[in-house]
Amino acid sequence: MAQKIRSADGLLQVIPPPGHPAILPKKGESNVLITSALPYCNNVPHLGNIIGSTLSADVFSRYNRTRNRPTLYICGTDEYGTATETQALKEGITPRELCDKYHVLHKETYEWFDIGFDYFGRTSTPLHTEICQEIYQNLGKNGYLEPQSKDQTYCENCGRFLADRFVEGICPHCGYEDARGDQCDSCSRTLDAIELIKPRCLVNKSHKVVARTSTHMYVKLDTLQPQTEQWIKNAARRGKWSPNSVINHDLEIIDARMKAGLVPAPLTRDLVWGVPVPPLGREDDEIMQTKVLYVWYDAPIGYPSITANYTPEWKQWWFNPQDVNLYQFMGKDNVYFHTVYFPSIQLGDKRDWTTLFHLSTTEYLNYEGGKFSKSRNRGVFGPQARETGIPSSVWRYYLLSTRPESADAMFSWADCIAANNNVLLNNFGNFVNRVLKFVSSQYQGVIPESEDLAGPLSPNDSEDSVFISDVNRLLHEYITVMDAVKLRQGLQTVMAISQLGNGYLQSSGLNKALMISNPKRCAQVVSRAINLIYVLSALVEPYMPATAKAILPQLNAPPRAVPDVLSTDILAGHTIGTPEHLFKKIEESLADKFRDRFGGNEAKAATTTTTEAAASATASAKPKAKGKKDVAAPVFTGVMTQEMISKETEITQQGDKIRSLKAQPKSPETDARVKEEVETLKRFKSELSQLQFP
Ligand SMILES: [Zn+2]
Ligand SMILES: [Zn+2]
Repeated sequence: MAQKIRSADGLLQVIPPPGHPAILPKKGESNVLITSALPYCNNVPHLGNIIGSTLSADVFSRYNRTRNRPTLYICGTDEYGTATETQALKEGITPRELCDKYHVLHKETYEWFDIGFDYFGRTSTPLHTEICQEIYQNLGKNGYLEPQSKDQTYCENCGRFLADRFVEGICPHCGYEDARGDQCDSCSRTLDAIELIKPRCLVNKSHKVVARTSTHMYVKLDTLQPQTEQWIKNAARRGKWSPNSVINHDLEIIDARMKAGLVPAPLTRDLVWGVPVPPLGREDDEIMQTKVLYVWYDAPIGYPSITANYTPEWKQWWFNPQDVNLYQFMGKDNVYFHTVYFPSIQLGDKRDWTTLFHLSTTEYLNYEGGKFSKSRNRGVFGPQARETGIPSSVWRYYLLSTRPESADAMFSWADCIAANNNVLLNNFGNFVNRVLKFVSSQYQGVIPESEDLAGPLSPNDSEDSVFISDVNRLLHEYITVMDAVKLRQGLQTVMAISQLGNGYLQSSGLNKALMISNPKRCAQVVSRAINLIYVLSALVEPYMPATAKAILPQLNAPPRAVPDVLSTDILAGHTIGTPEHLFKKIEESLADKFRDRFGGNEAKAATTTTTEAAASATASAKPKAKGKKDVAAPVFTGVMTQEMISKETEITQQGDKIRSLKAQPKSPETDARVKEEVETLKRFKSELSQLQFP
């Protein structure tokens, strides 16, 4: 099919898609390094975790790629520490086996949500050990480590110190019998295990637990504090931090711990599952040699160590503050560790680290009038999202449009379905489909000669000056808010632009009658609308990569960069692909089925109001009826069965197989194989359509 696309520097996307072999920063360019908080490896993530870090970081990294900036997005599982040891004990497997299991569950969940890490690694690697030990030794060399001895609970039968989670006993405050080593569930005071009366070993209650002195290595955060404070103030100004729990709008430190004066923090633990403490060449080496580094110390080092597992050139990213801006995404409870604790460690290490440039945090996402709760089976956890049959694009759209940026947000099935039906289907999908169908049916799929010159459209255009200026204004807004990591606002802007597109079709009266009465104007409207769709494909890519991927073959065009202004890039004579619906309607009645399946019906009183709100939003957001019949797309009517899910997986894999075949050099053999595999794909699709919703 004839492709006629303007060639200009920076028009197309040149940064490879996520996961391509080693992307490295380029001197003199704005290089972007992105991390999302490392999920802990003893459970599966829920939607709140996903929106807070991994999904948000994914949107921002995809955005930077559409701006042709060298971008690296790194994440992985945080694997060491007592929480993994405890969970492994419960499941009767080794910590390593537990981490292997949950690492895969996390990876699969993120893959389904289309989260495009360049690399998703883990902290239990030899390189991680090496880097953690090197930093520790530098802290020692620079005089920031000191040993402290304290009494700790020790089990004589197990022959080891008991971490907080391995001990229970009587609460010294309220007398509750089963207080945990770190907290009493009855009076909810925080405890130190050594305070418990009659402490018991959780491995076996009959074990003899005693107090024994243990020596640990501490990092002198107090000595580092003046440097850390100075660094925070500079970084907050430079990276335009939003006010957070550590620093306020006037660049005053408000963190309670810093105001009271930081105290030395322990870096070591009496555990087995962790990074061994390396020698410092001092006399206390001997007592330290059986211990491991504390998980709070080693977890943030996971960012550079996972990068080291991705590329041997990792130092180009992590020791390059001049050329690299580091953006970190996390839940609000993680701010201290990213702005105070880890930067202090980097300062104490004294090498020229790339340090935090901008942090993005979110508040909490709640679920149907309550909280997510794994134990009470409330909410959607990890791989369950796909069981709904709602495509990952729609999930992403809904989660990002409710991203809890300044206050807690509420997940509701009714709102999720309304978002799909009212915004994605009626606004965005309608615009794209209506234009493509018109070109396909009226112009045999070939863009007509509009007499628009290739390149930017003039905002003083005799016909469309208002439309063009409005699009350009919104494009400028999109770029501004995205650069400031205001992701929810960015998404609103994308939908406002497609709404402009719908308004444009309406006001210019695009239809067959126009084509007959004024062919020149009709061709112009078509050209401008098609080029707006091309822009939208890039704007929507960060939010809904699968949707962008579906639009491009319909346009028959390669991925483009986000432009500064609307321009004529798809030219007359270009042949488009086959128009297909981007979204399906979801039956509103499904909200009830989802609440039965995932919890939430117990809070029905609370959700009625949201449903009503969604219904009134529907009424106001509905676009005018023109071209409405084009919207009659397939409909979802039920929760997917296991069989449907596995069939869908087969279809995805088959699609990948065909794409990789097509990427091979052309020959009669590969052509024949492609044909064959396409037949199989068609068969899978028809088999899926035969399966019935329960
Ligand atoms: Zn014991
Ligand atoms: Zn108590």
